[in-house]
Amino acid sequence: MQDINLNAITTDRLTHACFTENAVEASMLRLDKIHPLISGNKWFKLRYYLEEAKQQHKKKIVTFGGAWSNHIMATAAACRLHQLECTGIIRGEKPPVLSQTLQQAASLGMQLVFISREKFSDSYIPDELKTDNNYIIPQGGYGEPGAKGAAGILRMADKKNTHTHVCCAAGTGTMLAGLVHAASPEQKVIGISVLKNNYQLEKDVAGLLKEPDQRFSVLHDYHFGGYAKCSTTLIQFMNGWYRQTNIPLDFVYTAKLCFAAMDLAGKKYFPGGSRILLIHSGGLTGNASLKKGTLIF
Ligand SMILES: *Cc1c(COP(=O)(O)O)cnc(C)c1O
Repeated sequence: MQDINLNAITTDRLTHACFTENAVEASMLRLDKIHPLISGNKWFKLRYYLEEAKQQHKKKIVTFGGAWSNHIMATAAACRLHQLECTGIIRGEKPPVLSQTLQQAASLGMQLVFISREKFSDSYIPDELKTDNNYIIPQGGYGEPGAKGAAGILRMADKKNTHTHVCCAAGTGTMLAGLVHAASPEQKVIGISVLKNNYQLEKDVAGLLKEPDQRFSVLHDYHFGGYAKCSTTLIQFMNGWYRQTNIPLDFVYTAKLCFAAMDLAGKKYFPGGSRILLIHSGGLTGNASLKKGTLIF
């Protein structure tokens, strides 16, 4: 299988009028380019978990996710690269037809175990998987090793790293916490929550930081109805963005991030002269859940 290629990462300048007219210099860090399946931030978040598993001589990785989980797909691919066995505990009954994500994960060698929604919510692990040979990665990769890995993301940006604001999409907040770890004292880190009313998120991020930190904030107004919810406005936005930039976005995370960044720039949220960096955290495989022809890319 194709290896991870960090050299493929670029920082692309964004020239939308809403940025330039408001004296905001915007660019995008293209983590989506590192691998077709282990997309974007998930590789960064997984790397220290996998290293620890190997150090502890674990045979198998066990983790959790839904049918379209980027984390499941990335874990399957990363375990294949690291020659580790893996099991994905999947939320819900086994459907007659597997999602493309699950089909791909299975074809990469991941064993899939389906767990009812009630049990899944407690991060339930079947007894047969609770052995010393197994290494458990929490759902979504939330945890200190995940944040430590995500800190590496900011080092991929141009060496000088003179951005005033770093903006990312936030699910569990692990990437956001990692970016705060790596940020300079003057930098602000802004997370766009993709879940509806997830006011727990600030606490979750703080839980991964050593001390209270004024540099990060979470914005809750750009969820478009909730996790993995998608509207015509968002689809039109993604197609328009692609026409202008040639950069594909995913509808669960990065589209909401870019929409938010443009909206905020228009509302003068960023002071004139700001240099903002948007993190393209990947996740493009999830677009396969949309009806064919919805997107122009
Ligand atoms: C998982 C994911 C995120 C969210 O990362 P968290 O660390 O859970 O906040 C953002 N973007 C993409 C594309 C993802 O797959």
